[in-house]
Amino acid sequence: MRVLVTGGAGYIGSHVVRALLQAGHEVVVYDNLSTGHRQALPGGIPFYEEDIRVTERLTEVLLAERIEAVLHFAALSLVGESMQEPQKYYDNNVGGTLSLVTAMRQAHVENLVFSSTAAVYGEPEKWPILETAPTFPTNVYGRTKLVIEGLLADFAAAYGLRYVSLRYFNAAGAWPEGTIGEDHGTETHLVPLILKTALGQRKAISIFGTDYATADGTCIRDYIHVCDLAQAHVLALEHLGRGGECRIYNLGSEQGFSVRQVIETAKKVTQRDFAVEEAPRRAGDPAVLVASSAKIRQELGWQPQRSELETIVEDAWRWHKAQPGGYGD
Ligand code: UDP
Repeated sequence: MRVLVTGGAGYIGSHVVRALLQAGHEVVVYDNLSTGHRQALPGGIPFYEEDIRVTERLTEVLLAERIEAVLHFAALSLVGESMQEPQKYYDNNVGGTLSLVTAMRQAHVENLVFSSTAAVYGEPEKWPILETAPTFPTNVYGRTKLVIEGLLADFAAAYGLRYVSLRYFNAAGAWPEGTIGEDHGTETHLVPLILKTALGQRKAISIFGTDYATADGTCIRDYIHVCDLAQAHVLALEHLGRGGECRIYNLGSEQGFSVRQVIETAKKVTQRDFAVEEAPRRAGDPAVLVASSAKIRQELGWQPQRSELETIVEDAWRWHKAQPGGYGD
């Protein structure tokens, strides 16, 4: 299919762009480069440095590029910042998506794959988390994504939009060749922070909370390789291409690892020792988040290939070693 990828220069978007090209799709990227990197894009694909909130321009590009489906990653995703600046998050995430689906209506593009998050679940009552679990997000970021899922359902019912919403658990890792990877201006995620510590760019890694009701007292998360996430987007797109119905799917490895286990794995993979500090809990962190991804495995045949924790950390390490300064832009 001929697809538009909004946010295609970002961490997850850039991996999806490569997976789409490998699967034989034609890709056009739309990104305002507010957090993305031009260098994360492969050469030779059409790239629009534009903001999705400018609806008329988006409509024009959808028509001119003869787009059949959109994969939508363009969003802000820092939990802490979302609490400080909710207006910015509602404007970019909710406003941006409203603009996108409005442009899609105008250009008669019906298919959308949406980048959602496990943050929509908030503090889950049981694990593994099914798609039918209650959704009570504990932060503004998660709330914007849940509002968007409602918006998509309403557009589907009234105007025939067809969408798949993918709720990611903890995305990590990098393209196995080490050519693209994670480079956030403000890094808050555990795996890249640990590897930056292993590289000597940070003095120590802090463990946020050691008194959770888990085996070793630290939070448990479900880490999923960014390439396995990318593959799921290809399957979701092809599902829509076959005329498949609207769906919401979790994307996780279905295995939980504690913060201490991730640190130990990183020490083993990097063969480097580094300082670890115990710090207070971070506000809004649930103790355990582990997905059930049975639905997408059964319905779309998704099969994670690289989501063993050691493989995730090895791939991320290759990227961080190759590009210690990230994209350097
Ligand atoms: N975490 C930590 N130290 C850090 C960054 C994160 O202990 O410097 C913990 C965090 O409290 C959470 C887990 O690592 O339990 C994963 O956090 P991350 O921000 O990577 O993803 P989130 O689960 O918030 O989406």
